[in-house]
Amino acid sequence: MKEAARQARAESRIIGFVPTMGALHEGHTALVQRSKLECSPVIASIFVNPKQFGPNEDFAKYPRKLESDSEKFSAAGVDTLFLPDAAEIYPTGFRTYVTVEGLSDRLEGRSRPGHFRGVATVVMKLLEIVEPHYAYFGRKDAQQVRIISQMVRDLNLETEIVVCPIIREPDGLALSSRNAYLSADERRAATVLHRALEAARAKLSAGVRDALQLQSTMRKVIAAEPLARVDYAEIVDADAFEPITRIARPCYAVLAVFLGKTRLIDNLYVEPVGDSEELAYHL
Ligand code: AMP
Repeated sequence: MKEAARQARAESRIIGFVPTMGALHEGHTALVQRSKLECSPVIASIFVNPKQFGPNEDFAKYPRKLESDSEKFSAAGVDTLFLPDAAEIYPTGFRTYVTVEGLSDRLEGRSRPGHFRGVATVVMKLLEIVEPHYAYFGRKDAQQVRIISQMVRDLNLETEIVVCPIIREPDGLALSSRNAYLSADERRAATVLHRALEAARAKLSAGVRDALQLQSTMRKVIAAEPLARVDYAEIVDADAFEPITRIARPCYAVLAVFLGKTRLIDNLYVEPVGDSEELAYHL
């Protein structure tokens, strides 16, 4: 992979990179499509990273669909598919980890201790191997892309991180490889994340700026869904991922909700338009 990427750089080509864990859906292929507008070659990776799963999480049962994934990536126009195995990425004696302090401890980090250390470490390694000009990430994992952008800045990496919009099902559910775990009833109930974010957006449109009120709106929507159990539902600053009290700068409404054993996340990004009282919403 290093040699192929080196060759592309020697030919002054612009390398785009899309790292994934496979079980591909249109959220992943949208990253490839965006990358193809700006880069050639587009390199994608599939690596189910053991270091970002907790001991009681779904590493063993995470869907692995190499054959259909390679077809999907190739149909989307991926030029090179990088498929390292775990022993190659973490050879015996591996000892070096990347920790992005502060940002990694809350929300997803609090519910999944060690998760972002695993994510930052593998993304650092992949960026170091591929050395892409651009790397594409989904806003679906807003905290993750914030942490990766911080790592890239702190460690002087040459890659520019590009954040892409959330791709959703027609009923609003954000596409996720984990949606495959849902039973038919849970799948119907899973729209509750989108409904809760829509309810927060409606309040914002009606002029509400108090974060606690928005939080309680989201929690009420989730509480009304018998199959759903909230893990967190918060309004956080888009930079620090710390709770805020008033909506006055870019922020996220972030959710993690259990449907049975499956834990799903989603978010709404809100930013003031210029100096006005008006807000722009990104669902
Ligand atoms: P994963 O395979 O789940 O690790 O995701 C790989 C990349 O795809 C990450 O940058 C995710 O944020 C992104 N991604 C996953 N789901 C979506 C989605 N529904 N919309 C946009 N990007 C997504």
